[in-house]
Amino acid sequence: MTTLRYSTEIPVEDEVDVQVVGGGPAGVAAAVAAARTGARTRLVERYGFLGGNLTAGLVGPCMTSYSLDGREQLIRGVFDEFVRRMEAAGGALHPSRTRAGDAYSGFIEYGHDKVTPFEPEAAKAVALQLCREAGVLLRLHSFVADTVVRDGRVTGVVAASKSGLALLPARVTVDCSADGDVAAAAGVPTEFGRDTDGLAQPMTVFFRVAGVDDEAVERYVRSHPEDRRPYESVVARARSEGRFPAPRRGVGMYRTLRPGVWRINTSRVLHRDGTDVADLTAAEIEGREQVLRLVEFFRADLPGFERCELLDTATTVGVRESRRIVGEYRLTLADLQSARHFDDVVALCGYPVDIHDPTGSGGGVDESAGTANVYEIPYRSLVPRGVDGLLVAGRCVSTSHEALAAIRVMPPAFAMGEAAGTAAALAVRDGVPPRALSVPELQRALLEAGAYLGVPVG
Ligand SMILES: Cc1cc2nc3c(=O)[nH]c(=O)nc-3n(C[C@H](O)[C@H](O)[C@H](O)COP(=O)(O)OP(=O)(O)OC[C@H]3O[C@@H](n4cnc5c(N)ncnc54)[C@H](O)[C@@H]3O)c2cc1C
Repeated sequence: MTTLRYSTEIPVEDEVDVQVVGGGPAGVAAAVAAARTGARTRLVERYGFLGGNLTAGLVGPCMTSYSLDGREQLIRGVFDEFVRRMEAAGGALHPSRTRAGDAYSGFIEYGHDKVTPFEPEAAKAVALQLCREAGVLLRLHSFVADTVVRDGRVTGVVAASKSGLALLPARVTVDCSADGDVAAAAGVPTEFGRDTDGLAQPMTVFFRVAGVDDEAVERYVRSHPEDRRPYESVVARARSEGRFPAPRRGVGMYRTLRPGVWRINTSRVLHRDGTDVADLTAAEIEGREQVLRLVEFFRADLPGFERCELLDTATTVGVRESRRIVGEYRLTLADLQSARHFDDVVALCGYPVDIHDPTGSGGGVDESAGTANVYEIPYRSLVPRGVDGLLVAGRCVSTSHEALAAIRVMPPAFAMGEAAGTAAALAVRDGVPPRALSVPELQRALLEAGAYLGVPVG
């Protein structure tokens, strides 16, 4: 590839205390928490709406926010408020009202107790409401393309929009881009994929179908207990005849709050890198072709789906895994298995390891990985090595491939975002780098705001 050295003058916008890049589950929680903690907060998002995978990815339901045994709600705070707000508007069911193995859980038992079904439009509305009520300054339609680092500290990001390029300065930045875009551009070391071969989990274009006969689906699935996943034997037959359009063994399907409407998590695109534009383009093409062929297959082969129609597809292909920053602590599977206690715990989770096979048709929630009923995420996993003025939350925090496969779902992303946003605001208030923040003070602030960390802290 040839290169060009390019220099230009760009406008410098107002400096804020805390700048959050990416308005998904982590970013919304981070921005709301930072603003409520008293920081002048800006949220920069590439789309014209908030929610990330909750909305643009059409991903749902939210996987469990409870302990693995479904007994205790671990992720509360902004997440719980978000869900209750959607529920009050008729756009969600609180997780306490769903159970493992039901249609909202995709008929899956293990790790699927207490999921949260919700409507994507409710998520769009509530994300915006919470941010606006907290006084977050919104900069939508803005893609962050670069990071400015001065004397080892992130001082702002460069965003591209219809108004051109601009520098958006901030005292502390929280990278909630899911891909670690800000951190990578700042020179923070990152990891990608499995230790063995660097391959990441596959991508999926989520879609919804309408016109499904809900009772017929329920009847079929309940009368085929031999299928580990819904319609597994139908899919196996079609695969042996070369008729199934995606490298999957069953149909990932989740009933929604709307009669006859199901979310489908079944397309699969292998061997693509979510930080490479050529790969993303190829993944969109392949994933969207699979969707059309899957709908045809559903109509022809799946009892209950004979009259279904494509309702919509996600705005973007869903990327399960890409860069993970190298932070002050790398969370591992052993930590999740042993329920390792961290003095700097900032979130509790119970969702198990869920690895979609990077090379083939297998994978999913994995009982044999043996994660604990409740495990902890430490603050240090949100603190990047080597650069100040920056925190990271959501899918790109410092973990192994296996540990990420458990904490990557949306409720933990909210919890990590809330912790990072609160920490960023406290660091600005106290005039210290985020890595030097008093962790007991952060934990107290999180508890006061409604988060749950198990035992009372400090
Ligand atoms: C196919 C698939 C299925 C999944 N299934 C489930 C499920 O059923 N339940 C569940 O709970 N979780 C599921 N997950 C996991 C979950 O959706 C994500 O891991 C989670 O959304 C991560 O939250 P986040 O806030 O870190 O990132 P995201 O939700 O990806 O949000 C990132 C936000 O940052 C914005 N952004 C990114 N880069 C930039 C940039 N450079 N400049 C400006 N804005 C930027 C994006 O537009 C987006 O709004 C699934 C994920 C995928 C991909």
